Amino acid sequence: MSKTKALIIEDHPDNMVLIGRLLEKSGYQTLCAFTGLEGCEMARQEKPDFIILDVQLPDIDGMEVLCRIRAELGKEIPVIAMTGNALAADRERMMAAGCDCYIEKPIDTQRIISQIRYVIGEADERGLC
Ligand code: MN
Repeated sequence: MSKTKALIIEDHPDNMVLIGRLLEKSGYQTLCAFTGLEGCEMARQEKPDFIILDVQLPDIDGMEVLCRIRAELGKEIPVIAMTGNALAADRERMMAAGCDCYIEKPIDTQRIISQIRYVIGEADERGLC
């Protein structure tokens, strides 16, 4: 059986390494994109099983990435949005645009795994999305 494929869209190299290692350790195959446009392109080409999406990106922001992915690929791929900006309005905007889970940085490593397992349907526990 092939591994569950994750796409991480994150411009900060340290966060990319941290999340990438965490996901690989948890048995996921990881793909990395450092810009929003690169992320959209990889989502189209690779059809990942889920996406971890940073909201603050250098080119198009996470909101735009999410809208493009939903417009082009539908609702199939779960998206976990991630931000250092804990504004309730941003969370509502992202949830309304179709993200499945919205989490704040710094990343809680145990919690993000339970959130991933929930959005991809491997766990019943919601994991505080
Ligand atoms: Mn960022």
